[in-house]
Amino acid sequence: MTEIGLPSGVRACLFDLDGVLTPTALVHAAAWKETFDDFLRERDGDGFRPFDATADYDEYVDGRPRADGVRSFLASRHIELPEGDDEDPPDKQTVHGLGNRKNDAVLEKIRTQGVKPYPGSVRYLEAVRAAGLRTAVVSSSANCRDVLVSAGIEHLLDVRVDGATAKERHLPGKPHPDTFLAAAADLGFDAARAAVFEDALVGMDAGRAGHFGFVVGVDRVGQAAALRQHGADTVVEDLADLIGATA
Ligand SMILES: [Mg+2]
Repeated sequence: MTEIGLPSGVRACLFDLDGVLTPTALVHAAAWKETFDDFLRERDGDGFRPFDATADYDEYVDGRPRADGVRSFLASRHIELPEGDDEDPPDKQTVHGLGNRKNDAVLEKIRTQGVKPYPGSVRYLEAVRAAGLRTAVVSSSANCRDVLVSAGIEHLLDVRVDGATAKERHLPGKPHPDTFLAAAADLGFDAARAAVFEDALVGMDAGRAGHFGFVVGVDRVGQAAALRQHGADTVVEDLADLIGATA
């Protein structure tokens, strides 16, 4: 292990955004809850069973592309909606309409609250760059660039593969490994020379499926055991914990 807590062969670091570099996983969870609770209340009345911002969020939506998150949660409640399309207004009861409603809620929260990065993640990004490794952000979010700019960390990342670029390049989202593999390739390395940093269970699955050199689970919510079960080689609560780690 090196002084940045990675096997010495690793030359590229692929970071998830929400929950790894920025605390925006909380923003997303709150926006999903608003969206689904409004929808379920309209559908089932006041006795509706609310979206659980921890359990439902972790299991069905965290880390997935937006429309996949909608489909996955609705399927868990045996609800079927028409697909609709990207242009659907946020009040339309379609998969994309609900997705757009959630996106509006996220943008509103980012605009009004701003985004601050995790201080330990900034320190770690600086440490890996100082050690000569290359860095990428790999996010399912279509708002990735806005968040990086708001958080002031865009300059610490050599490559960005996000919801927008994945769509352009026809890359399936997490739990498929394709977005991580594309970021590693953009940095000039194959999977064996790249480490994945993720807080979502689907991100662990993507890391395992892509045969990456190392997978770091970032545990912000007390799910270390689940992260290990899904393939984490190590689990930390803060990326700065990797600095100076020898095991
Ligand atoms: Mg995440």
